[in-house]
Amino acid sequence: MTKDLENLINLIFMSSASSVLLSGNLISQPEKIALHIAQSFLCKDIKKNNLFCNDCHSCNLFSANSHPDIKVIERSKDKTQIQIKQIRDASDFIYSTPLIADKKIVLILRADELNFFAQDTLLKSLEEPPENLKFILTTSLPYRLKPTVLSRLTHCKLNPEIHSLNSESNNDGFIDINKNDYPEECWNKDEKVMRLFDDLASLKGRKIINYLIKDKDKDNLLLKLNWLSKIIEESILIHFTETLSDTPFTQLSKEIKNTLDADTLIYLYDEILPVINSLQSNENLNYDFQTAAISY
Ligand SMILES: [Zn+2]
Repeated sequence: MTKDLENLINLIFMSSASSVLLSGNLISQPEKIALHIAQSFLCKDIKKNNLFCNDCHSCNLFSANSHPDIKVIERSKDKTQIQIKQIRDASDFIYSTPLIADKKIVLILRADELNFFAQDTLLKSLEEPPENLKFILTTSLPYRLKPTVLSRLTHCKLNPEIHSLNSESNNDGFIDINKNDYPEECWNKDEKVMRLFDDLASLKGRKIINYLIKDKDKDNLLLKLNWLSKIIEESILIHFTETLSDTPFTQLSKEIKNTLDADTLIYLYDEILPVINSLQSNENLNYDFQTAAISY
């Protein structure tokens, strides 16, 4: 585990937040980190830096998947979403007292898979959580959660470069993957980027995509759109959630959040995301867009 991840876990422990959202991509493994944090919350012999002991009764039960004070909620394999019934079924657990540990944990894995109604039901518990209960949610797509749900969560953004469970992964490979994921300007605040967002905010519909295509090297289109969507997503989240950790985009996202309101950002996001999905999944559309890019 890297020092930064240790610090982040410490921060989560010290924060009074009853509900934490851990967001990150596949590389940063929010689910694994969430389990790690959950075990630490339940451990009876917590070590320095709030790390679980892996030896006490509580830790043994946790390792055997039979700890009575944690409820893990995730999508069933035969369903496409987490169902409302799964949240309703958790209410007995939520409002009972812990049996072994001092706290109880509700861990919702890939919370973006909660269906609309399940999110509404969850919201009631998030609004008035019992004193000894912690909610830990994980996602790689935080924007898919409803703003009302997001507004109840303290958001920890995992950065694969520094928040790694496996310290060795910090050395080779991972940093390159991350840096190559996005164009260089995302690492620094840049007037040019702010102008780009001002321009984008004045456009509607297809004109947004046309504007982006016109301005960008066609080979970089998907890369740029991905980068834009990440910044927009983070700006939206800053509108709605309290945050404990920063990503390389945070400074820029804060600037953008101060310039553009949430509705505008959500509109831009909704316009850009389908194009990214199409580009990633459909070569023909990719060709169409590249052809369009050449003609602008
Ligand atoms: Zn323990």
